[in-house]
Amino acid sequence: MISPLQVLLVEDDFAIRRLLVDRLAANHVQVSEAGSLGDARLRLGERVVDLILLDLGLPDGDGLGFIEELRQWNDVPILVLSARDQEREKIRALDVGADDFLGKPFAMGELLARIRALTRRVRSSRTEPILQAGNVQIDFAGLSVLRDGAAVHLTPIELRLLLLLASQPGRVLTYRQMLLAGWSSADPDLHHYVRIVIGHLRRKLESDPARPAHLLTETGIGYRWQS
Ligand code: CA
Repeated sequence: MISPLQVLLVEDDFAIRRLLVDRLAANHVQVSEAGSLGDARLRLGERVVDLILLDLGLPDGDGLGFIEELRQWNDVPILVLSARDQEREKIRALDVGADDFLGKPFAMGELLARIRALTRRVRSSRTEPILQAGNVQIDFAGLSVLRDGAAVHLTPIELRLLLLLASQPGRVLTYRQMLLAGWSSADPDLHHYVRIVIGHLRRKLESDPARPAHLLTETGIGYRWQS
């Protein structure tokens, strides 16, 4: 039997915190709570968690700095909860190492789906060298891709971006992160390179490239893999 998920909730709004703790507990997610970044550091010292839900505006500092600090030593999935819906801030959070974001207010079902997608990665994919997603099979060790059992020819750059996305299902990767991984560049003028490669990958892997099931667009931000 799989043990319940352990989530650290970092949120200074007491009412939101209470609501989330109750609703998550009802869905078999154990929550430890922190009302500040200082509390969050203490909680992380006490127990290992499967995921962090992080509000960005906290009384003793900015969540963005906390993500950067955490990523020096910890790769636990981070799902940012933010009332601030500016695209720029979401992108900054993702660029410094957050996995995904959800704007407040959000539906509980959506939050649970995101939590499951991000924690599934941690619990399974690291021990699974082969990912099966519908009719697509990706062999991370053999660096090969099959569609309906037949080998798919990918260029080196297509393969690199596909492995980057598919090795982290549910995680949103920004244009900047994909440019750095594929072309060692962060030049915003090169975003179209990423779009072109994703277009090629969709044609090669998706049953309906216009309505992709695996290579999903986060408009204006980047892409995520869904298994
Ligand atoms: Ca806040």
